[in-house]
Amino acid sequence: MSIGVHVSIAGGVSTAVERAEDLGCDALQCFGGNPRGWKQKPLAAEEATLFREKRGASGIDTVAIHTSYLINLSSPDDELFEKSLSLFSVELERAEAIGADYLVTHLGSSRGEGSVFAMGRVKEAFETLRGALCSAPEVEILFENTAGGGDTTGSDLAVMGDILNSLDGTDMGFGFCFDTCHGFAAGYPLATAKEVEALVSRFEDTVGLRRLKLIHLNDSKGKLGSKLDRHEQIGEGMIKTFGPFLRHPAIRGVPLILETPKTTPEDDPRNLKKVRGLRKV
Ligand SMILES: [Zn+2]
Ligand SMILES: [Zn+2]
Repeated sequence: MSIGVHVSIAGGVSTAVERAEDLGCDALQCFGGNPRGWKQKPLAAEEATLFREKRGASGIDTVAIHTSYLINLSSPDDELFEKSLSLFSVELERAEAIGADYLVTHLGSSRGEGSVFAMGRVKEAFETLRGALCSAPEVEILFENTAGGGDTTGSDLAVMGDILNSLDGTDMGFGFCFDTCHGFAAGYPLATAKEVEALVSRFEDTVGLRRLKLIHLNDSKGKLGSKLDRHEQIGEGMIKTFGPFLRHPAIRGVPLILETPKTTPEDDPRNLKKVRGLRKV
């Protein structure tokens, strides 16, 4: 049962390990640098070593890095696309340096060009990044589903599955990260046993259960199908219950990361306790 939280890297990326440990996490997610700036430095070697040492001495079994929000891997704008690829290789380099298991990324937005264009662009992105990927053999890239607002790529599981399948046989491995808030906002209900069963078979038919490596467990402020990417505390949003989802055999073994709002210092411990309780029953 691997459960963790997205933690801050204020004071250096290695501080993420202490924050996660203080919360009693088995898993952690953090950014590799400032998620809203184009200017990114590679990580200092000492900081990367420190991260690996602290992680080695901790009980953390899963480490994920979330890429910058600026990266748009399906952009029709050539300049933005090129900048995104450069930043993605910095992200990849940092993830490899700290020994992260996963690099979680959104696929961006095709700005109205449609899913066929987006699919081609993502494929082009990773073919261009092949060299960077080969230099980071320890890191597996995970594509995260989106809520679907602003014409983002990958809110539809069928499209996500097509993109993942199109990259098969390219000797680069890609997995899938399911965000429950984004999924719900994109129109996939997940509260009842029947809804969870339908969602799991949807996974099987599209992205493939074998590719489901990580779950972002977030409640949703927006309604089912609202396309609103607004995370809420566990049990306080529109999804309401996560019991049947967390106890499904296909979900039970997948590491969970909470990206719920941190309005008070009690929020993370309370959400973690709730989730552990629900998974145990
Ligand atoms: Zn995300
Ligand atoms: Zn997420």
